Parts: sequence; structure tokens; C-alpha cells
Amino acid sequence: MKRVLPLAFLAACAGGDPTKDDTDSSGGLPHKVFVIGVDGLRPDALAAANTPNLDALFERGVLALDAHTHAQGVTLSGPGWASVLTGVEVEDHGVESNDDLGSISPDWPSFLSRVRAAGRSTAAVFDWVGILPLVGPDATDAMDQGTDEAVGAALVTRIESGEFDLVFSHFDSVDHAGHSSGFSADNPEYIAAIEGVDADVAGAIDAVTADAENADWLVALVTDHGGLGTGHEEPSVDTQTIPVGVVGGGLPAGGDAPSDANHMDVAPTALDWLGVPYEDLDGKSWLL
Ligand SMILES: [Zn+2]
Ligand SMILES: [Zn+2]
Repeated sequence: MKRVLPLAFLAACAGGDPTKDDTDSSGGLPHKVFVIGVDGLRPDALAAANTPNLDALFERGVLALDAHTHAQGVTLSGPGWASVLTGVEVEDHGVESNDDLGSISPDWPSFLSRVRAAGRSTAAVFDWVGILPLVGPDATDAMDQGTDEAVGAALVTRIESGEFDLVFSHFDSVDHAGHSSGFSADNPEYIAAIEGVDADVAGAIDAVTADAENADWLVALVTDHGGLGTGHEEPSVDTQTIPVGVVGGGLPAGGDAPSDANHMDVAPTALDWLGVPYEDLDGKSWLL
């Protein structure tokens, strides 16, 4: 496996609190994870959009608007979500386009697969069905598929059930808006789609917040790629610069993200918080 994160990342983490105990940071409540996946989300457009629900969430955590996608291959959804879900680069997970989703390497299981194999319960709620082979076989205890609005509603049901330690979501309307009218902070349709996701995910954020007496939730925001014009296949600063955020897990509100924040970091961060062991990945946990 090729290392892609420079040592500067380790230096940035060296100031962490050595007394922090990931297993008992909130009175011994069970640790849980909710991942908000938004396809094709540019960071400048996220910053420009009116997103009161995500804003309130990330006031309690850490949000990088200059994070990066995987470094290898094209910036299509297949390779992108494979990198998010596995925590490793394209040369390891093996998904090089949207035409070879089933060729994902069994050597690098998704974090949902790892969590479920460790005896914890997982749910995936998504729009794009192409994400299924990337999540992997036997990786979920429950699945829901539908429009972004349906995804938002199903997330509330799954979170409020109390049955799941890990809830992963995928919203697709932002990417659709980018393809139809432009991935740009200056495009009102693209901005409106981001504001739509903010509204659709509001109930799930509220459900997680309301569950604070029962579980210690870590919430992550992640995307597969940015975009330029009406596409995102070609790697460039516009397609490879993305937002990644984490709330909870002992991270300080308004703290600095790792200087080399990457969407591959979400997998090890989630695994860390859930206490599921994993080998060396290209992404790095933010909880170190
Ligand atoms: Zn995508
Ligand atoms: Zn797309």
C-alpha cells in the first residue's frame, strides 16, 4: 500500500490530549457513529449556502473546507466512495471508474463491513445504488434506498430505533444539480441543492442530538469529489478539494482539522470511535 499522507499530519496530531480515553469520554455511554455522505459537494459552495442545520452541528466540532480526495485515479463517484468506505487509495481498493464497482478488493473491506464483522450493528441509507457493492456484502443489518427526502426520513427512523451503532448515509441531489447546471458556488441551483440536503438531514441531526442520554455519537460529513463545470471526472483542484468534518469523539468545538485532512480519514475515525481494530490505512483517524 502506498503511503499518501505526509509526516506533517503526524506532527499536527502530536499535541493531542494524552489523557483522553476514547472508551469512556461520556460517562460510559455506548459509542455510535453517523456519517452524512453528500455526493459531489464543493467546499466553497457549502460555505456559501444557507445551511443552518449543518452550521449548528459543526459549531460543536471540526470542519475542514480544504480537505482532499484520494490522490490516485479519476474523481468519479465509484473510486471516490470506495476510498471513503475503505480508507485506502485506488491502487488498493481497485475501483477505477463507475464501471467496475464490483471489482472492489476484498482485502480492504468497508468500515461498515469491519464494524459488522466485529459484532456491531450497521445501517446504510442511500440514493445511489452503485454504492452497494462498495459497502460490501454482509456489511449492513438494514438498508433503505430512495430520494434525498426519503433518505432523510429513513435516517430518523434508523437513528431513533436505537438499534444501530453505525448509520451511513448518501445524499445524491447535490451531484445531480452540479451535472445539470454546474458545480459552482455561483450557481443558484447547486446552492439550492445543498440547502435541500441541509433540510433533509435536519431530522437525523436532531435525532442524534436527542439521543445524547443513551449514546455518545460521533458525526462525520464527507463527500466523494468536488466538481467543475458540469462534471468531475478529471482530477484537479476543483474536483479534489472537498469538505470533511467530524463532530464528537472528544474533538474540540471549533478545533483545527488535520492539515492533510482527507476523505479516507472517515473510515479509521469511525473505526477508532467504535473500538473496532484495523490495520494501517491511507486515511488517518482524527481521534489520535
Ligand atoms: Zn459522486
Ligand atoms: Zn456525479
